[in-house]
Amino acid sequence: MSEMYNPYQNMLEVLDEAAQNLGYTYNDYVAVRSPERQLIVSVPVVMDDGHTEIFEGYRIQHSSSRGPCKGGIRFHPQCDVDEVKALAAWMTWKCAVVNIPYGGAKGAIKCDPSKLSEGELRRMTRRYTASILPILGPERDIPAPDVNTDGRVMAWIMDTYSMLKGYAVPAVVTGKPIEIGGSLGRGEATGRGVMFALLNTLEKLGLKHENMTVAVQGFGNVGSIGAKLMRQKGFKIVAIGDAYCSLYNKDGINVEAAIEYSAKNHKSLQGYTEEGIQMITNAELLALNVDVLFPAALENQITKENADNVKAKVIVEGANGPTSKDADEILNKKGIIVIPDILANAGGVVVSYFEWVQNIESFMWDEDYVNNNLEKVVRRAFEEVWKVHVDNHVSMRMAAYMVALKRVVTAKKLRGVFP
Ligand code: NAD
Repeated sequence: MSEMYNPYQNMLEVLDEAAQNLGYTYNDYVAVRSPERQLIVSVPVVMDDGHTEIFEGYRIQHSSSRGPCKGGIRFHPQCDVDEVKALAAWMTWKCAVVNIPYGGAKGAIKCDPSKLSEGELRRMTRRYTASILPILGPERDIPAPDVNTDGRVMAWIMDTYSMLKGYAVPAVVTGKPIEIGGSLGRGEATGRGVMFALLNTLEKLGLKHENMTVAVQGFGNVGSIGAKLMRQKGFKIVAIGDAYCSLYNKDGINVEAAIEYSAKNHKSLQGYTEEGIQMITNAELLALNVDVLFPAALENQITKENADNVKAKVIVEGANGPTSKDADEILNKKGIIVIPDILANAGGVVVSYFEWVQNIESFMWDEDYVNNNLEKVVRRAFEEVWKVHVDNHVSMRMAAYMVALKRVVTAKKLRGVFP
């Protein structure tokens, strides 16, 4: 991340512009502008060699105006309070865009999980969960997976919460393994939602998606599954990359084989080969002459330094916050359509919501029902955002923020400022 970039400031700048476009005074939306609650915890972990290491953990609840707070937990060496604040706020806007009854939250532990044993990871997760327990709960705040966390971590969180409560509480987290109350379709939901948002946009633009070329940055849950689903639909995935290397094949990459390779290679594409494939740099991947660029790694990847190099017609944001505000302005001028994160990657939280509903109902839906409902929710949100985009001559990001902010401000006004 570049020195000057602050994701929270970036989010606020976009939000303030959305408020202005909606004709709001500062007083109209100030109560939903900052996070409601910020918790920082020290997480002591007895390491395998016997010494105790302290990790810093965060859980930030941005808004509960529209319902319980909802958002992932990230394990990453570079996370900090401002990143988590931004991620929590993006969850508020995301849940509002797709109109599910949640507010937004996010959590993180500053650590490098690739350097921790399974036992160390488990103890760290359990202690972090115990430390943030007073603000968690199915009616309060419901975590989910994010960067470097997965179903296994969610199972530990669910177990820790349940042990301390004295009874099983599956609805306290989503993205759990199916066997303990996870939802069918949750693992693929974010990638699937990205694909639906992309297909909806291409349809409006009158572009045929068959054989469209795609470059994917980030090959984890969102990037690899999104790429696999796009390939199944007929897109040609010509580039993939992760934190270790980037690869290009003009004839299209066998995404399924790359997924299998990465899973066996400690989640790294380093060393993956197939006929016609070549190594490129991350910067080259972002600047490829492709139809679609699909950033699915971290924030601040498309910046004012490299936005001018982007040649894609459409950017679909799998990651949260991959494009800085000044980069957005450059892309808009170049006529590149950006399908914003809070709409494009909302599929994950939509199916998390379905998982929570199933847990509360104690009833399991079948996978087609989950996927069909996801498609409907993304389509409805897309149409609403598209209309604001067209009617107001604003970017899709601005339109999505306007839809979201209006819903959150309306909820806040209806409830009033306590006391
Ligand atoms: P993940 O940990 O499964 O995968 C992250 C991928 O990004 C890995 O392949 C990693 O190697 C790669 N990466 C990390 N740093 C990189 C760099 N500097 N350059 C290139 N690649 C890099 O995480 P994920 O769950 O797929 O999340 C990815 C993004 O999507 C994040 O921004 C996350 O907040 C967002 N997101 C995730 C979900 C979800 O359901 N998991 C939902 C919505 C949004």
